[in-house]
Amino acid sequence: MVVRRSESLLGRRYLLMNNHTEQIIPWQPSCDFCNEPAKYDARMLRGSWAYMCNAHFEEHGIKLGLGYGQRLIFQAPGKGEDTE
Ligand SMILES: [Zn+2]
Repeated sequence: MVVRRSESLLGRRYLLMNNHTEQIIPWQPSCDFCNEPAKYDARMLRGSWAYMCNAHFEEHGIKLGLGYGQRLIFQAPGKGEDTE
């Protein structure tokens, strides 16, 4: 499966946390494999990126970190942290 997500690539860079293992996102994506709520945005062994739930991250993910994957933290806009 080839996942193309150019908008998401921009969002990913902008929203990356300092440790490169977590990403705050204002929407809840679904797992690209099973439609469960995604917990990770991670690179697969073949090099493409996908949203994954816990089970599919175990199956397809490599690890967390810059260039490999981020844990997704869903945070609705306007709740929690201030937005300037
Ligand atoms: Zn899944």
